[in-house]
Amino acid sequence: MVKEDINTTYCMYQRGEKEMLCPYCSNDETKVTDKRDSKDETRRRRECLKCGKRFTTYERIEPVEIFVVKKDGRREPFSREKLKNGMMKACEKRPVSMEQIEQSINLIEEKLKQHGSEVTSKAIGELVMRKLKQIDKIAYIRFASVYREFEDLNEFKREIKEL
Ligand SMILES: [Zn+2]
Repeated sequence: MVKEDINTTYCMYQRGEKEMLCPYCSNDETKVTDKRDSKDETRRRRECLKCGKRFTTYERIEPVEIFVVKKDGRREPFSREKLKNGMMKACEKRPVSMEQIEQSINLIEEKLKQHGSEVTSKAIGELVMRKLKQIDKIAYIRFASVYREFEDLNEFKREIKEL
């Protein structure tokens, strides 16, 4: 059942959208019959497994932009540099390599992307702390004392004791 594609539908999809729905019947099972990559998009010819109609999707890889929601509710674009600076400061004169820091940031960034487009600065701080705790305890304490803003000294002492 081959239909000529007079009714070619062009659909834009972003990376991360799992379901490619048929524009005719909304079925989510399609077969890719042809694929062509260009610089910033992938063109796929698809055939719906249910109704047999064909359509073309243009799938674009869009960089996921993450916004950080700060304590006072303001939003700012996530900055890798800023995170790196914060971590480097905490790791100053500690046996932590740049590679370890870069790797940690990569992991954190991946996590954030899975999470969605908005994340609180607190959540980022928690992720960093979890990483630093594994890498270097002193760096962790330094970072935590800035980010967590321990409510009182006892809480801070308790945290140190737990290490
Ligand atoms: Zn269909």
